[in-house]
This record gives sequence, C-alpha cells and structure tokens, in this order.
Amino acid sequence: MRYWGYLCAKVVVASAVLYGLPVWLSKGSPAAPHRIAFAPTLPTIAAMMGWFLLAAGTIYLIVWDQRHRCRTCLRRLRMPVATGSWGFMLQLGRPRIEYICTYGHGTLKEEELQISGLANPEWTAHSDDYWEELSASSEQSGKK
Ligand SMILES: [Zn+2]
Repeated sequence: MRYWGYLCAKVVVASAVLYGLPVWLSKGSPAAPHRIAFAPTLPTIAAMMGWFLLAAGTIYLIVWDQRHRCRTCLRRLRMPVATGSWGFMLQLGRPRIEYICTYGHGTLKEEELQISGLANPEWTAHSDDYWEELSASSEQSGKK
C-alpha cells in the first residue's frame, strides 16, 4: 500500500507542476483579444511540443524510479549483479540483472534483454528474519 501511495504522490506532484507550468508561462505573454479562439502560432506549437516531451520524460522517470525501489521500505535498490550468460545459457540461465534492498526486504530480477516485449521484473520478497535464511543455508552445507 505504501509503495502505491508513493507512486500516486509522485504522479500528483508531477501533474500539478506540469499543469501549472504552461499556466505560469502564459501569464507573461500579452493577451490577444482580437485573435481567433484557437489559432496556434509557431512558437505556441513549439512550446506545446516541448511541454509534451517534458511530460513524457517525467512520466518515464517516475515509472523507472518506482520500479527500482524496494516494495517494503521504498529505498532505492542497490548492488546490481549481472547473472547468467548467453554463452552458457543452459547452465547459468539467461542474462539478467539482480538488485537487492540493502535492508534485506527482497530482490528484483530484471531481464537484460527484452525479446518478446517488455517483461515485468520479478520481485522476490525475503522473510523478515534474514539470519534464519543464513543459518538454514549453513545447516544445509553442514549436512553434505
Ligand atoms: Zn527494503
């Protein structure tokens, strides 16, 4: 819930800024009452195109930032590790990049190459007690 709330907050703030920017910029331009209601001029069209690019870039950055945040604590995911190999795909799997939360909340596995469309990254939540996972792995290695 916190994760989606943070995304909604970013979208609301970006929408307010992007909506207010053309309003704020148009206050400085002189009014033209004799002009037809919608008769765009070249500078107006260029400004609208620039605003569109700014809005699209802002939305892209919001989504990109949100994907690389921890689902639990909202901190940025760190320590990217490249795993897999195209040369040894049957042994190591396809190349992917894994990010982790530094507080042990989970791992994000992102495919390196998106062949069949945009694949959603795979989020794997870890248990709260990561010492339990470490001791379980040491017990398994001790049995062998
Ligand atoms: Zn976290």
